[in-house]
Amino acid sequence: MRCPVCKSKETSVVDSRTGSDGLTVRRRRECAKCHFRFSTVEEIELLDIVVVKSDGRRESYMRSKVEVGIRISLSKCSYTAENFSRLIHAVERDIQKKRKREISSQDIGEIVMRHLHSFNKVAYIRFASVYRDFKDVKTFEKELKKIASSKATK
Ligand SMILES: [Zn+2]
Repeated sequence: MRCPVCKSKETSVVDSRTGSDGLTVRRRRECAKCHFRFSTVEEIELLDIVVVKSDGRRESYMRSKVEVGIRISLSKCSYTAENFSRLIHAVERDIQKKRKREISSQDIGEIVMRHLHSFNKVAYIRFASVYRDFKDVKTFEKELKKIASSKATK
C-alpha cells in the first residue's frame, strides 16, 4: 500500500480496528517517509459463494444481479449512490454471515426484502410482491416493470 501523498511504499499500521459487524477491518497507517496518516478498510469478498436457483441450477454469486433487482424495485424512488452501496453491502454482509458455500436465490431474496423494508417501503412492496415467483432475472425484471408502470398510470 503506497502513501497517497509521497507514493512511498514504506507505510506501517499504527492502529487496527474490527468493524461492529466483525466483517471489516479498518487500519490506520502512517507513511515512514512523510508521516502522512491515512486509513484503509478491508472487507470480505463474496466471490466464493454459489447461488442455487429455484430450478436447482447453480451459478457464482454476482453482485450485479442483486443490484439490478434492487434498482428496478427502486425505480422512480429517490436515493443516493452512497446509500445504495450501503444497502448492497448490508445485504452481502448478511449473505456472508450465513457462513455457507451455497445459498438459495430465495434466501437472498429474503435478505434483500429485510433490508429494503427499512430502506424504502415502495421498493419493498414491489420486491416482495414478485420475488417469490421469479424464476430468473429476466422474469423478475418483467414483473417489476409491470408493477412500476401500473402504479404510474393510476
Ligand atoms: Zn508519504
